[in-house]
Amino acid sequence: RDRPANGDCKNQDRLANGDCKNQLLARRQFILQHRKSLPIASVEKRLVEEVRNNDTLIIVGETGSGKTTQLPQFLYNAGFCYDEKVIGITQPRRVAAVTVAKRVAEECNVKLGEKVGYSIRFDDMTSNSTRIKYMTDGLLLREALLDPFLSRYSIVIVDEAHERTVHTDVLLGLLKKVQLARSKQHNIIKENANYRENSRSLSQGAKYTSLKLIIMSASLDAKCFSEYFGGAKAVHVQGRQYPVDVLYTYQPEPDYLDATLITIFQIHLEEGSGDILAFLTGQEEIESVERLVHERIRQLPERNQNLLTVPIYASLPSEQQMNAFKPAPSGFRKVILATNIAETSVTIPGIKYVIDPGLVKARSYNPVTGTESLIIIPVSKAQALQRSGRAGREGAGKCFRLYPENEFHKLIDSTVPEIKRCNLANVVLQLKTLGIDDIIGFDFMEKPSRMAIVKSLEQLFLLGALSDDYKLSNPVGHQMARLPLDPMYSKALILAVEFKCLEEMLIVVAMLSVESIFYFPREKMEEARTARKSFSSPEGDHITLVKVYRTSAECLEKSKITNGKEKSIEKKLNKWCRENYINYRSLRHARDIHSQIEGHIQQMGFSLSSCGDDMQQFRRCLTASFFLNAGMKQPDGSYRALASGQTVQVHPSSVLFRTKADCIIFNELVRTNQNYVRNVTRIDPLWLPELAPQYYAAHS
Ligand code: ADP
Ligand code: MG
Repeated sequence: RDRPANGDCKNQDRLANGDCKNQLLARRQFILQHRKSLPIASVEKRLVEEVRNNDTLIIVGETGSGKTTQLPQFLYNAGFCYDEKVIGITQPRRVAAVTVAKRVAEECNVKLGEKVGYSIRFDDMTSNSTRIKYMTDGLLLREALLDPFLSRYSIVIVDEAHERTVHTDVLLGLLKKVQLARSKQHNIIKENANYRENSRSLSQGAKYTSLKLIIMSASLDAKCFSEYFGGAKAVHVQGRQYPVDVLYTYQPEPDYLDATLITIFQIHLEEGSGDILAFLTGQEEIESVERLVHERIRQLPERNQNLLTVPIYASLPSEQQMNAFKPAPSGFRKVILATNIAETSVTIPGIKYVIDPGLVKARSYNPVTGTESLIIIPVSKAQALQRSGRAGREGAGKCFRLYPENEFHKLIDSTVPEIKRCNLANVVLQLKTLGIDDIIGFDFMEKPSRMAIVKSLEQLFLLGALSDDYKLSNPVGHQMARLPLDPMYSKALILAVEFKCLEEMLIVVAMLSVESIFYFPREKMEEARTARKSFSSPEGDHITLVKVYRTSAECLEKSKITNGKEKSIEKKLNKWCRENYINYRSLRHARDIHSQIEGHIQQMGFSLSSCGDDMQQFRRCLTASFFLNAGMKQPDGSYRALASGQTVQVHPSSVLFRTKADCIIFNELVRTNQNYVRNVTRIDPLWLPELAPQYYAAHS
């Protein structure tokens, strides 16, 4: 590998050093070469022409051909950022928005946040001078709330459209509307005779130029997008793909994590050089495989210890996400442990081997009971092919599918769009805020079921966001829409103002927004339980989370006083986390989210009150907020979820796993072989009709 590393020469002081200068020059040269060699480079002119000639364009191209990183630069250079307009590129995933923006900033040789930036929920890296802006699709939806014409954008590129996340689907519907509205406005202004002379209409003209839409997808089937956009033109960008040898197991694997681990070492010890990419379903799995790999490396002879693990998943802090892109030190092999984010969203160079257990964590919604849960399901054929394709980007590769070949033929062809399998409360609330009242009549690319829409309307009504004629209610509905959170969490914060426990609720919402604060390594369950005892509250997980957050904050404060250096403070926190079986990455992420929501709350004029030691007050507030997730104990120790009638168990990770409360509220339903509820708090059953009469008075 001869990729010159960056990093070393970032420090300006060292630029005086001639070596560093040369290294930087070499790096620039390398990047230039790389850009020129991408398949998309040869069709730059043609693509720019197509964008000029078509208001809506669909671009299909294999992963790695350069769509995401190059097209915005082509369009920028072709002058599409006239009148300080911005090219917006939406991504379904935060990680992709961040890593791609960093890469493109480097390619353009600018500081991130200037010409090239990104903006994702809880993290904005843009400025007035940003012209190429990567963001999540959810974020652009939120921007539409403030700027219904999306007037800052000359072009919006919806990237990874084949993923069909719920935000992508809603965004496509919205963009269709905005595009129509903008071209109408544009025509009215153009018809104005004084158009060129009158400076006022000129500036308005600038505001209302037509909006170009580009839909990018890695799936070869562009027909559905083209049909939805009235027969829009589709262009194919030829990719470069080397042969990939696909290998299956003879038998189904009873434990896919173990099988992954074995395969990693089999490749490492028996196959030639090249990095490994393994697809796992989430942070917890990734971290547990990471630990097991480390353990096993230590047992190998020293000459075989040259294996490096790099995790990449959505909630990983962004500096750490970038590690996946750094080449391994010479003589080392890198094994990237990734969620399905590495399927198409980000292209990591150097991969030669792919390990695919064939599973993915997905949202699943039952409109009859109104419950959403996360389940691990088999991937679709399209996903399996994308995954194996990752091994053949730079040369011939191998893909190890950890299931028998006949299972592959049973997979569904392509993934069901998320909008058909998730709770729509958030979507409905956003559309209502945008003034779109007829949700059932909205022009969705694929309509969610009527039942799912009705259920969400009902839920929003029960939370007080909608009035009884299903119109957005003042002011609760508007406040809920302003917060970038699930409607139930937004409601919890609004209620916490009344209950005077906003400080506690803010902590809980931040901690619930990240995956697994506690480390529960399978092999050290008991140690982890003991460590958690010092934080455990007999009342449940929510108060436990508050204690963890506060204790960690104290630890930070203390180390700030004794040693003010940022790095050593973080080190202390990291150490504290390790000693207490707390997940450092998750905690840091939660701290970021905390400060972001705090900003929103302050803007909304809420004051941050604490209930002090009166935790009953706090639990009452939890009840008033999460009453739709209440459960009553049954004689056999399981619980009956009151809203859905389902039987659920308290998850073993809950502090209430052993001590059984009579009545609980919970935040999350996880379905494995059983229905488990996580983040559970004990409540008094009488609070339900008292604090949620709109639901329980009518139901009792
Ligand atoms: P596409 O969107 O068509 O899948 P991308 O524009 O994401 O393609 O990637 C083009 C190429 O740029 C990839 O082959 C990859 O090697 C390289 N690349 C993208 N992001 C990075 C990064 N952060 N670091 C290094 N190389 C990258
Ligand atoms: Mg891409």
